[in-house]
Amino acid sequence: MSDKCNLIKDILPLYVEDMVSSDTREFVSEHLQYCAECHAEFERMRKATKFIPDADPDIDIVPLKRVKRDLFIKRLQTICFTAILACAIATIIFGILTSPKFFPYSDNLLNVIDVPDGSVIITFDSEVTGYSCNEVFDNETETAIYRINAWTTTWDLHLSNRGKQNMVIPFDRETEIQIFYAQNDGSEDVLIYGPNQNTEENGVTLPRLILMPYFLLAFLALVVLAILRMLLRNKQAIIVWIDRAIPFPISYMAAQLCTKGFNFTTYSSQRDFCIIILVAMLLYFTMLTGKSLYKAKLNTSKGIEE
Ligand SMILES: [Zn+2]
Repeated sequence: MSDKCNLIKDILPLYVEDMVSSDTREFVSEHLQYCAECHAEFERMRKATKFIPDADPDIDIVPLKRVKRDLFIKRLQTICFTAILACAIATIIFGILTSPKFFPYSDNLLNVIDVPDGSVIITFDSEVTGYSCNEVFDNETETAIYRINAWTTTWDLHLSNRGKQNMVIPFDRETEIQIFYAQNDGSEDVLIYGPNQNTEENGVTLPRLILMPYFLLAFLALVVLAILRMLLRNKQAIIVWIDRAIPFPISYMAAQLCTKGFNFTTYSSQRDFCIIILVAMLLYFTMLTGKSLYKAKLNTSKGIEE
């Protein structure tokens, strides 16, 4: 077998897969025309590629096919990684832009109108783009107590049409009603409708603190998982599951810090919590795809070294 034949045989796997330049293709074709041995090898490879790709592990094209498949998977993973990361970032930005900024009470903020049928209508200033109302019944004074607040968001300020918001509190002849405006900044709620029964204080609407315990819980889970991982480092089967679980608390904490910073108080706990969970899920999948991408990269560089 000549040196040329050796060279041809080296190129053949690429030639069969049609992954060579036109010059090389010409060079190989020419050689195959007169060299029976190389031609036989070529036929063998061609059949193997066409009909039973992985039949003979000794055939050179098998690793080549694997490389091609790995490349495809890697490309797919990169696309997934980028798409999920982009979704996470978009959700964080959306969350920040739509987080409510509450208005402190002022005379212009709202108007309370008594309707002849007994219900009460509250009209807000045009700056207000959203409001919420919380109703509790005070058994002691037999009064229905409404606490309302009003807000706008960065999104609404710049991107949406502001409209006048109206709110109706229907008439109920059985009970007395009291309506407070909750300023949501730590200052006292303002009585805007109804008799002033409580002469001392109107009360202050306090922020919810639920984000703090959840954050601490996530941190605790992370510490426990890290300790477990250290203690059980010889048990490969458990380590796999721990490694899958560890990104959970990490993504939760990261999601909270990205959306709320170090502010653990919230006046809109449900909304904040939903956004944090959504971002946490997206970050979790970003971490998973990122991890397999990183692994694939390690494997490729290892393969090249070998
Ligand atoms: Zn030859």
